[in-house]
Amino acid sequence: MNAAMKLARTPRALAPRCFAPLFLALAVAGCALKPGTVDVPVVPVADWGGTPADAARARRHAITHITLHHQGEPFKPGTDPRQYLRNLQTWSRNTKGWLDIPYHYIIDLEGRTWAGRDIAYAGDTNTEYDPSGHALIEVVGNFEEVEPNQAQLDAVVDVMAMLAKKYKVPVERIASHRDHSDKTVCPGANLYRYVQSGYFKQKVAARLALPGAATP
Ligand SMILES: [Zn+2]
Repeated sequence: MNAAMKLARTPRALAPRCFAPLFLALAVAGCALKPGTVDVPVVPVADWGGTPADAARARRHAITHITLHHQGEPFKPGTDPRQYLRNLQTWSRNTKGWLDIPYHYIIDLEGRTWAGRDIAYAGDTNTEYDPSGHALIEVVGNFEEVEPNQAQLDAVVDVMAMLAKKYKVPVERIASHRDHSDKTVCPGANLYRYVQSGYFKQKVAARLALPGAATP
């Protein structure tokens, strides 16, 4: 069982999605999100019609970094994320010759999180950095052109917090593709702003209730 499947089996009631600020979240009945609560519902690969990667070809790694990407192309409202993921898997394998989708988690327009490559396997990239050790998150859309919506930003925090807790990744190692490569603008200026400002690091630290984290 991979991590995504395990998480996907967590009953939704135990893994509430709550996009309210934490102080509100704690006050709102029915929203049980507490500091240290980092379970995220992840749609498993089988649910979108993907097939498992060839384990014999996989490069195994241990997670030490969390790295944010964007799709880099427009994701039109109404696009079926399942079809997008199936196309991405086919392109990754047949055109690029990669093991699988290059990213471990994909966040759609509604802020849902989909499983991509098995987190146990290192990702792939068109640029020069070595993605080994990096947990790779992709947000759909081109953030050179559009702004991320709040559901997407919240989902990025959710997934980063889940990964930071599970793999004991320090918040200082939360970054984005362009922080590791001079050859890309990924994750796009409008999403990178949140990386650069420390928004994600602060939200993740608050979620994990780390000592010294800003009061939410
Ligand atoms: Zn990227």
